Amino acid sequence: MSSAPTPMMAQYLALKKEAGECLLFYRMGDFFELFFEDARRAAAVLDIALTTRGEHGGEPVPMCGVPVHSAEGYLARLIRAGCRVAIAEQVETPDEAKARAKREGTPVSKALVKRDIVRFVTAGTLTEEALLEPRRANMLAAVCEVRGVCGIAACDISTGRMELEECDPLALNAALARIGASEVVAPEDWGSAPAEHVTRPAADFASEKGESRLKALHQVATLDGFGQFSRAMLAAAGGLVAYLDHAGRGQLPLLLPPVARESGGHLAMDEATRTSLEILASQSGGREGSLIAAIDRCSTGAGARLLADDLAAPLAEAAAINARLALVGWLHRDPLLRGDLREALRALPDIGRALGRVVAGRGSPRDLGQIRDGLDRARQIGELLAGAPDSPALLTSLLPSLGGHAELVDLLARALVPSPPTERQSGGYIASGYDASLDELRDISGNARRAIAALETRYRSETGISALKIKHNGVLGYFIEVPARHGDALMAQGSGFTHRQTMAGAVRFNSVSLHEEATRIAEAGGRALAAEEAHFEELVEAVATSAEPIAATAAALARIDVAASHATRAVEGEWCLPQIAEGTDLAIEAGRHPVVEQALERAGERFVANDCTLSAADRLWLVGGPNMGGKSTFLRQNALIVLLAQAGSFVPAKAARIGLVDRLFSRVGAADNLARGRSTFMVEMVETAAILSQAGERSFVILDEVGRGTSTYDGLALAWAVAEAIHETNRSRCLFATHYHEMARLAESCPALSLHHVRAREWKGDLVLLHELAEGAADRSYGLAVAKLAGVPAPVVKRARDVLARLEKGRDETGGLAAGLGELPLFAASMAQEEEAPDPIRALLDEVDVDALSPREALDLLYRLKQEA
Ligand code: ADP
Repeated sequence: MSSAPTPMMAQYLALKKEAGECLLFYRMGDFFELFFEDARRAAAVLDIALTTRGEHGGEPVPMCGVPVHSAEGYLARLIRAGCRVAIAEQVETPDEAKARAKREGTPVSKALVKRDIVRFVTAGTLTEEALLEPRRANMLAAVCEVRGVCGIAACDISTGRMELEECDPLALNAALARIGASEVVAPEDWGSAPAEHVTRPAADFASEKGESRLKALHQVATLDGFGQFSRAMLAAAGGLVAYLDHAGRGQLPLLLPPVARESGGHLAMDEATRTSLEILASQSGGREGSLIAAIDRCSTGAGARLLADDLAAPLAEAAAINARLALVGWLHRDPLLRGDLREALRALPDIGRALGRVVAGRGSPRDLGQIRDGLDRARQIGELLAGAPDSPALLTSLLPSLGGHAELVDLLARALVPSPPTERQSGGYIASGYDASLDELRDISGNARRAIAALETRYRSETGISALKIKHNGVLGYFIEVPARHGDALMAQGSGFTHRQTMAGAVRFNSVSLHEEATRIAEAGGRALAAEEAHFEELVEAVATSAEPIAATAAALARIDVAASHATRAVEGEWCLPQIAEGTDLAIEAGRHPVVEQALERAGERFVANDCTLSAADRLWLVGGPNMGGKSTFLRQNALIVLLAQAGSFVPAKAARIGLVDRLFSRVGAADNLARGRSTFMVEMVETAAILSQAGERSFVILDEVGRGTSTYDGLALAWAVAEAIHETNRSRCLFATHYHEMARLAESCPALSLHHVRAREWKGDLVLLHELAEGAADRSYGLAVAKLAGVPAPVVKRARDVLARLEKGRDETGGLAAGLGELPLFAASMAQEEEAPDPIRALLDEVDVDALSPREALDLLYRLKQEA
């Protein structure tokens, strides 16, 4: 049997409807409560008790709750588990609700406190310090499609940075992989929207709306001053701002002027390449074991976030790369300056994020204090750097951004106490001396407090009760307390004390004088608090007005921090300054793999450095040799060196000359890539197809055991054809690791391909892997020796040896796996055959209908045939 819902349930259901897919945090006193399905989901994720409360439609209502004061931690866990949360707060006090009920003529006993959703908390819209990782940007992206072009608007609302770009729909996933957004918003009814996203009304993604919102936001008549933005970019921007507006219930976070991102200026990498190179996260998903973990020596969270950006999108223009390298080199040469700089950076608060919170209306006095201290230190860092000789151009362009906040810093320094609190409720954050009337109010409370202390002494001597105390609590306010046995004495008429409460061991009283002083404290306290609030608002306003220059200071400091990190890492690892060249050479002398080297060092082992010298005439290296011999490591170290150099870092090598790379590809044979849903071989082929269609002469490709995911014959055939195609058609620089010996014969037909192998030796029956690259084909595969090394039992290895002997005998008799390859035409020749132009004479003949020809036309045809011949 169902009955009408209670008023509270009706209110809950209305709010829940508004919250949609989000979990609804329904405020009840000191708790946020969740009901129904929300309660089940949250209880499971948070591992908290699921109970019931009342009934709805005859069924008990499932419920769970979290205390308001520790809600942040629970929110963080829900967000990490992929939930979004709507926060419904009480927007009036119970007294206000009762007064309203009286006015509206409803029974006061049934008065229900009004509640509203004040905010949506989602992965991409966080600003709370506790919910954010200091060293990782938190990106929100909005994507849409306008006339066949995808627009992407990405922003980190914790700092307000906003970038707009556009791309081909096929490149959308690669762009999103680069951005690494924790939340993606897309219009509803868009067939090719990315896999995981939040849908929003399509009308939000209108380019005119986007344009006018950006103009209004930044109070400009035209966006031209910020850059050139296409329709697709503006449409995405519109979707992004509308979503933020929705999530913040009308309160927009800090959004800096948008920056248009040009795809040409960056080294392109697709998602498979990023994952396989383990740039920002290792294959297991964490930062541990990734490139960034091995090189990050940033002193600040903002620096670490910028470093991640740089590695996710290295540059592809020599001038920009050299500008970064010059700054790193300058700091590299001056250890004293570098030391002082890093020490100063370490003391720096996260200005960008504090600013983000303040502008979003969620700032605390502590955030204002951080901005004050951060800006002041920025100025000092500017002075430190300006004093050093031979300033590189990039630094000279950054220095002005470090200063210019004197007035604001002075205001905040005068207004705030040295370390302001994170909470505003109890006040005490405005410095004394800033506002005379506030000081006066504080004097009143101070005097009253002293008067109360004096009262205590007076009452003790008057009553002779030395155990008498004046205390304070939240319920009674100030009161006089004596042990129970003295209670009666004070109860007596004329004692001047009025009874308030009797406890087990004590009795509590009030007195006229105490009441007076307490009232003075309460009144002055309330007015002081209001005065502090007003000052807080003014200070927030002052900071918000300077939001852009403050963000510029934070960005400049981050850039300097990244340079100092690179310089520090280079000194630690004896890395070298790469030379960026315009040609297509790649000459790396004694290169090393930054992550593998670090792991080996920790285990007390030494990394063997190897050269790589690719050029137009020798652009494809086939790398053979035993498993575990170091092939993958060699391939990846060269890709990582290119990536690091183009991101503006020194590189782990003795010397490196790098002809600019426009696209970087890395693929690993399917057997290494088991954690995927699709058939692994299919994935391998899809990814390989992408390389063959996109890689060009300026690209760098590493292919690790491609073709391994299928049978020996198919695998060899594919590996062979792919290597040929890259050599002939793509003409990219390429390192190709393979265990197929037969591929060595490619060297006969491909002039720009050469053979290399990782060296190994058998010594007293044991395999010794030298991890050293040498020229020429691998002599043998050492597969059985590797098996022995890996602990395969001796009898099995012996049996395998016998089987191998048989197989090898068979191969020698028949010519083996590659027997037919001798007669294979060259790749170019076979491609030419395929595309041969049709014979014009045959085409003419195919066209004529002999029966319909007149004798004259037949004669003409003969002349034409003769001409074509
Ligand atoms: P392969 O691709 O040939 O199977 P890997 O590149 O995966 O071999 O290397 C296997 C292991 O050998 C690595 O995990 C590392 O410990 C070690 N190794 C690889 N390269 C080197 C090197 N240059 N110096 C020292 N040890 C190396």
